[in-house]
Amino acid sequence: MSIPFEELIEKHCGGIRGGWKNLKAVIPGGSSVPCVRGEDMRGAIMDFDALREVNSSLGTAAVIVMDQSTDIIKAIWRLSKFYKHESCGQCTPCREGTGWMMRVMDRLIRGEAEIEEIDMLYDVSKQVEGHTICALGDAAAWPVQGLIRNFRDEIEDRIRAQKSGRVSAVAAE
Ligand code: SF4
Repeated sequence: MSIPFEELIEKHCGGIRGGWKNLKAVIPGGSSVPCVRGEDMRGAIMDFDALREVNSSLGTAAVIVMDQSTDIIKAIWRLSKFYKHESCGQCTPCREGTGWMMRVMDRLIRGEAEIEEIDMLYDVSKQVEGHTICALGDAAAWPVQGLIRNFRDEIEDRIRAQKSGRVSAVAAE
């Protein structure tokens, strides 16, 4: 508890592959908490209070570290798919919201969306957050919110690339 993130990575985890400039994003507390941009995470302290400063949480303390080769949109889509699968369907915001978010995320991977849908996705995630019986609703909403807050430029670039026919083969897979 309260170990600096840099110490955790350098001393106990063998460092960042390709060095710190190659750090793209970190999910500091397991799949349900918002991701943080690499440059914001380097100086972070790994505890519940300090991680609030970077709009995330220690959560389950299962740290996920992603380098620049990561398709961050696809990574968060994968989490959306997981939470949609795990929803038991008992309450409407989670049952409908997880599927809706996953389907939008599915299109965002390929850039097949309108720019305005990014805000719509964020709004829907806010309607799921805090409006469900158990914590799975929050867990499904927060990764999507973290993606939009931190990597909106990447989402918009992909939509523009798709519209101009430049979307990469990797993103389209
Ligand atoms: S929030 Fe919990 S109880 Fe509600 S549908 Fe999702 S998994 Fe079920």
